[in-house]
Amino acid sequence: MSGSDTPAVETSVRPEPVRQPGQTAGRPPLPDRLLYKVLYLNKLTVTFDGFKALDELTLDVEPGELRCIIGPNGAGKTTMMDVITGKTRPDHGTAWFGPKIDLLALTEPEIAQAGIGRKFQKPSVFEYLTVFENLELSLAGDKSFWKTLVARLSPAERDQIDRVLGIIGLADERKAPARTLSHGQKQWLEIGMLLMQEPELLLVDEPVAGMTPQETERTAELLLSLAGEHSIIVVEHDMDFVRSIAKQVTVLHEGRVLSEGDMDYVQNDPRVIEVYLGA
Ligand code: ADP
Ligand code: MG
Repeated sequence: MSGSDTPAVETSVRPEPVRQPGQTAGRPPLPDRLLYKVLYLNKLTVTFDGFKALDELTLDVEPGELRCIIGPNGAGKTTMMDVITGKTRPDHGTAWFGPKIDLLALTEPEIAQAGIGRKFQKPSVFEYLTVFENLELSLAGDKSFWKTLVARLSPAERDQIDRVLGIIGLADERKAPARTLSHGQKQWLEIGMLLMQEPELLLVDEPVAGMTPQETERTAELLLSLAGEHSIIVVEHDMDFVRSIAKQVTVLHEGRVLSEGDMDYVQNDPRVIEVYLGA
């Protein structure tokens, strides 16, 4: 850290394994992806015009975890997601996706390809295509839009679309144009479009904003059902929603972790109360 010619981005701090490879007699060793954190951010700093949006942010996420991130406006939540997905480069710090993938060495498309999917706040489905076609397009990879729509689906691809339709609860709407869906259904469709790429880590920004109470409840069930198979980071302001899904909650403030623990712990943390209620 000393000296003025430190490289802008350090890539040397690899994450340490968090579990021992299964040495127990008779059991196969654990695969890499269970030995390491799925996400390991270390001392990330992002500066905009001298203002630190992230200030040595250190945070990690377990495989299969559903992590909620809360914090006042301007805390750095979106900036953190921008760094994870390669949209913003930090001034310094490290970001690892599992033990082998240095996120800071990859471009945005490479990061998506590596298995990180991001759901933005505003749904961006194709309004005039059906639910099924929207999911079909997400299979596309590097095929062009029109080529994908006229190409025949393989049975495996069809099965995958059916599976995702079931997960997001839109099997009955498969033939409906996306524009006829409710706001909540569009959000689920977009989550489905991400799932088509089978991401290991899903980043979801304010999923229940604008949803009805029933849609909010259904979204909680959906995210809970996806955890385990996927790791999920949810940024959300709706505290009742966070309470309904959260196991581990991280509170960001001024670009750093202010508090972390279960919902009861962070809600009763005097530092959190001060930030939320104003001092
Ligand atoms: P949150 O998502 O927690 O509300 P953000 O990550 O969006 O917070 O923003 C953190 C801080 O960084 C805010 O003060 C915001 O104004 C600032 N910021 C974010 N993006 C930019 C940018 N592109 N240029 C300048 N300042 C920015
Ligand atoms: Mg934000």
